[in-house]
Amino acid sequence: MKAVLIFSGGLDSSTLLYHLLSKGYEVSAVTFIYGQKHSKEIEFAKKLVEKAKEIGKLDHRIVDISSIHDLISFGAITGNEKVPEGFYTEESQKVTIVPNRNMILLSIAAGYAVKIGAKEVYYAAHRSDYSIYPDCRKEFVKALDTAIYLGNLWNPVELKAPFIDKTKAEIVELGLRLKVPYEFTWSCYRGEERPCLSCGTCIERTEAFLLNGVRDPLLSEKEWNRAVENYKILGKNPRPKLG
Ligand SMILES: [Zn+2]
Repeated sequence: MKAVLIFSGGLDSSTLLYHLLSKGYEVSAVTFIYGQKHSKEIEFAKKLVEKAKEIGKLDHRIVDISSIHDLISFGAITGNEKVPEGFYTEESQKVTIVPNRNMILLSIAAGYAVKIGAKEVYYAAHRSDYSIYPDCRKEFVKALDTAIYLGNLWNPVELKAPFIDKTKAEIVELGLRLKVPYEFTWSCYRGEERPCLSCGTCIERTEAFLLNGVRDPLLSEKEWNRAVENYKILGKNPRPKLG
């Protein structure tokens, strides 16, 4: 069984990679460079792939589509806005939207799947992203699955998002069981030498490990203590409503 996976090098897609390998899939992981302001996730993606090769069959492509950057640069991930501090509120998180990103990436991945004879395309959309990112919702997955099917009728490909009902903490719970080497995953939006421990994605990552009762293995003990302190202060903003 072959599958194509959109693989960012973050916590969610790394867990999905291990999940697919544990189910015996041969995985073609694709990491896109689409104009992110830093390449930290990509460096980590390479390291994680090397580890994952110990448990299953996979290949990894890094695809540079950054020439489209000008067309979609917007907000804090690809544009000029600042990455917000603290837990996501709906408004603060909206600056982290990259317009139509998942549709663009999944569309390319679907074409690649047809080419290599893979029947399924996976991405790690999850419940915690639901309220802010419309392209992480079930309705979107269903509609795009239909479009990909119709657009490739002679070589049908299915779109799958098996984590769509899972929170980040539940994803980490699964990943800990699958022994995902989370020390080789990167989440911080800021891309400095070490995680900033105070942006929305750092706070969310801290919460996911905290709820599982373990230290984030990416962090030293000192950093972890600081992350937990930040979570206590900055994590108090209201969470976005889950759908
Ligand atoms: Zn951060």
